[in-house]
Amino acid sequence: MDNLIDVLIVGAGPIGIACGIEAKKNKLSHIIIEKGCLTNSLYNYPINMTFFSTSERLEIGDTPFVSTNPKPKRAEALEYYRRIESKFDLKTHLFEEVLTINKIEGTFQVITSKSVYSAKNVIIATGFYDIPMYLGVPGEDLEKVRHYYNDPHYYANQKVVVVGASNSSIDAALEVYRKGAEVSLIIRGKEVSPRVKYWVRPDIENRIANGEINVYYKSNIKQITEHEVQIETPKGLVSIENDFVLALTGYRPNFEFLEKIGIDIPKESPCIPRHNPETMETNIENLYLAGVVCGGLNTHLWFIENSRIHAQLIINNILKKELDS
Ligand code: FAD
Repeated sequence: MDNLIDVLIVGAGPIGIACGIEAKKNKLSHIIIEKGCLTNSLYNYPINMTFFSTSERLEIGDTPFVSTNPKPKRAEALEYYRRIESKFDLKTHLFEEVLTINKIEGTFQVITSKSVYSAKNVIIATGFYDIPMYLGVPGEDLEKVRHYYNDPHYYANQKVVVVGASNSSIDAALEVYRKGAEVSLIIRGKEVSPRVKYWVRPDIENRIANGEINVYYKSNIKQITEHEVQIETPKGLVSIENDFVLALTGYRPNFEFLEKIGIDIPKESPCIPRHNPETMETNIENLYLAGVVCGGLNTHLWFIENSRIHAQLIINNILKKELDS
């Protein structure tokens, strides 16, 4: 059992990194295993994305996050977390996916795409950005339908339908509009989400009021074809010409993975994986949850801002158990 790791962390997002720092500070051996690049979710955010948090609220490891912008940009956050990971000399294995975790006689056996590890404690910090919430309509599998949005230039002079009323959709609608796209926004409810960043809201409201961005409230996509989109509106079915659909209707945690490793997940929404909020321990002893994965389908519950504390809660609990044993 020479290679028995004290704390194995799944996911090198901001919160997985915070857990690694906390383990290291407390002289617990650790490994972080990440299926993509470092801070993979942030890397896949839209290229021009601005955080709604100010930089000090995104800090981990008591290390200042200096930004010259009122709210930091994606590129600054990538650089910040990369420097943090390097400064604390964390043991991070990238491009290695955790496939499953078994508990055998009190020890976790963690099977990845590259190796097998043994660990006393495991922290699942896998976020929610890997699986989109699908529309479930015919034509959603066409190449022109995207569930992730990256760079506005690609959509210049195109007829673009953006689905959703939250920050991701509104940011995308405004950006592609400014690159010359003809934008139709499809919103299920009666208004743009109240959660939209306060400095973005007047912009979208004015573009809609001026008829520069076309909006369908209380509407849903019915069908997508190669050159059209059919929309169910309060006035009946409408068909519009279309080149691209940006279906930015949110994301969800990988419940199948969590269930496979034995975490209880209630069937009813918001499907919050079972855990003790004081210690973050799940129904499986010594298996913890950290970060935004904890909110289940309620992806507005946890952010970096309020979930970075999970790292301390977990490591304190591990240390307390070691003292008690
Ligand atoms: P993530 O950053 O999602 O990290 C999870 C990691 O786990 C990923 O890197 C993933 O690749 C990896 N992973 C998943 N499964 C496996 C596996 N089986 N094996 C190995 N690795 C795996 N929060 C704020 O506080 N302020 C903001 O301004 C803010 N803006 C946001 C903007 C957008 C567009 C989005 C989507 C979210 C935003 N959030 C913000 C919310 C939250 O902060 C982020 O979702 C943040 O990335 C959560 O950190 P995390 O470490 O919990 O999860």
